[in-house]
Parts: sequence; C-alpha cells; structure tokens
Amino acid sequence: MSLRANEVSEAISFLRMRLLRLLCSLAMTGTFLFTSYFAFAEQEVRVLVADHQKELHVTIQGEFVIRLLPSLQILKKGIQLTNVSLTASSQGLRLGGEEWPTRALRIEPLSDRDLFINKSRFRGRMDILKETGGLLSAINRLGMENYLYGVLHHEVAAWWPMEALKAQAVAARTYAFYQASVSKTLEYDLKSGTSSQVYGGSTTERYRSKRAVDETRGKVLIYQGKVFPAYFHATCGGITAGAQELWKINLPPLAGGVHCGYCRISPHTFWEFKISLPELEMIMNKNSRPVGQILKAEIISETPSARVGSLRITGTLGDAVIAAKDFRVWLGGNHIRSTLFTINLNDDMLEFHGKGWGHGVGLCQWGAFGQALLGHSYERILQFYYPGSEIVDYDTNPSLRGVT
Ligand SMILES: [Zn+2]
Repeated sequence: MSLRANEVSEAISFLRMRLLRLLCSLAMTGTFLFTSYFAFAEQEVRVLVADHQKELHVTIQGEFVIRLLPSLQILKKGIQLTNVSLTASSQGLRLGGEEWPTRALRIEPLSDRDLFINKSRFRGRMDILKETGGLLSAINRLGMENYLYGVLHHEVAAWWPMEALKAQAVAARTYAFYQASVSKTLEYDLKSGTSSQVYGGSTTERYRSKRAVDETRGKVLIYQGKVFPAYFHATCGGITAGAQELWKINLPPLAGGVHCGYCRISPHTFWEFKISLPELEMIMNKNSRPVGQILKAEIISETPSARVGSLRITGTLGDAVIAAKDFRVWLGGNHIRSTLFTINLNDDMLEFHGKGWGHGVGLCQWGAFGQALLGHSYERILQFYYPGSEIVDYDTNPSLRGVT
C-alpha cells in the first residue's frame, strides 16, 4: 500500500471513530431524555400503622435523621437505633434519652434500610404524632408500589394464578390512589386494617405478589377520567352487589349485578350460622333495639342484587326493622359472611344459610381466581367486574382525581 493510500485509510478510520463516538453520544443523550421523560413519578401514600399507643419501639439498622414536623428541621442524626423507646412526655416527644418540645416528628432512614416499629418492618419514613391524651400514632409514608408490596399477600395468597394477583394489584392500587386523592386534608390516607386494605409493612412481602405489583406498575382503573374506589371482596356468591346498596355511591363500574359464576370453586361459596334466640335478644338489647322475647324473624326487603335489604324481628315487646348490613355487623362479619342469605326459625334457634363472603361490591377475588385458571388476562377480569372502566398509568395522567 502506498503512503497516500495509508493516509487515506487512517483518515477513514479516524472519521469512523469520530462518527461512532458521535453516535454513542447521541444514543446516550437519547437514552437519558427517554428515561427522564418516562421517569416513574410514584404517588406517596400515608398509612396509619399504629394508634392509641403508650409506647413504640424503634429500630433502624443504618443511618437516619429525625426531623421536626411540619418544618422538616433536622433534630438528630444517627447511625443506628436498636429497640429505642418512643413515648409522649408532658413537653412533647421523647426518644430514648432525648426529648423535643413537639407534637410531631419524622423518623427517616437515609439509605434503603428498613425501619422497625415494634416487631414490624416498614419501607419509607415514619411520622410520629402525639395524640390528645398523651398517646402516639405512627403514620408510614411510602411510595404506592412499595405500599402494595405489603398489601397484596394479605388480600390474596401469593400462590394464586398471576393474572388474579395482577387484577388484585390494580384494584388495590386504584383504591389506595382514590383514598390518597380524597384524604389530602386528613392526617393519613389509609388505615392498615380491614376497614381499608390490610397492610403488614415489608414483613409480609412475597416474591409472586411483588411480581404482580411490578408487572402492573402504575396502572389504575378510571371511569370518565377519574379514579374511583375500586372495592373488592372475597366471594360474591353468584352476583355482585351494587355500591349504592351499601353506600351513597352511584357509579356504573360499581353498579353490581354482574353474574359471576367463576367463584363456584371458592371455599366460601356456602355458609351456615345458627344463633339461639336468647343470645340474639341480648344482641338486640346491646344495640338499643329491644323487642323482648323473640317470636318471629322475617326478611322484608331485598336489594337489586337479591341480597337481604332488611329484616323484621318481632318479640313480646314489639318489633324492630334492621338493615341487613347493620345486622351483619352486630352478629359479626365472620358469622354472617354476606347479606346473601335466607333465614329459618327453628325452635329456639335462628338459622342462616348464605352464599359468598364480603360486601359483594366490585372485584370478586375468588371469581378472579376462577377466571385466571381459565386463562383470562387481568385486563379482562377487571373489565368484567368493573364494567365501563379503563386501565391507565397514573404517572402519565397527572390530572387524575378521585370521584367524589
Ligand atoms: Zn363471584
């Protein structure tokens, strides 16, 4: 090869290298812009994980800060807390040997370290509030997806078919998103017990439940552009109930009347309960509806989904008409598992024969299980139980607000 040819060859190599660098640089910028544009804006939720407590024990296995609320001024920095007592004092709040004149503070691990309150482990931060009467509340503040990691296994077992887990993840995310959007002026969005969604912190996370959350990341249900309270229950017993049968909510996706059938495999399909009349008389007295010695019990109204609307209990002192949803609370939701029941007065026993478990509104969990076994996708399952709804990503719809 001549000198000239060598020079040309070197020049081409040089240009090739510059071009390659330029392309790499453009690609990196593009990737950066792409990831920045699509960076996931996670919604924060505030979950009441303890209240009316005299004392809490705090453990953090790593660096942390304690901040004053609401100013966020740093009160203390440290490298570890091991089972340190947190109490309310007459002046404010006391952690171990230190005391601050405040009604609220925030405990914040600095790295990815979990925080323990008593024996439960939590992701995120913990706000501690001094209640009137000198007791304590603890509110866990964390990202929506991390919160769902701690919810899902409580609602449906981690071994369930993946599409059923994913349907549950979207319903639970929607419910939490709705609560967060309507609780802005309150101290917390959700409780950690059955009155909201059961949340056990990170102690109860499971691999498959987390996968279902990850694979539906950010997805929520909307109706006419708004997130709604996507209620769910264990087993509908054949037909879902309308939200308007229980609460003042009138929305097509929660209107009920969905003939399910898929939950026939549920262990909660049928239930029975018996209560003696003297025992029922005591419950009537306790709830300020005394009727004397019970002579008769009858169902006097039905809801549109053929559940019991109300009952009349007649006794020697008169009668009382009771809404079935209240009657269920009086006798216990684990005894009267649904309001889809018949009654039979047999000697001195009132017998109940019922179907399903739960209020019956929205997603039927065992129905979702049955549908997933048949190969239905989580999208199809959700469309079935929340007719007319759509699935969207909340992070790309910043204007989403709950239906109020
Ligand atoms: Zn069902």
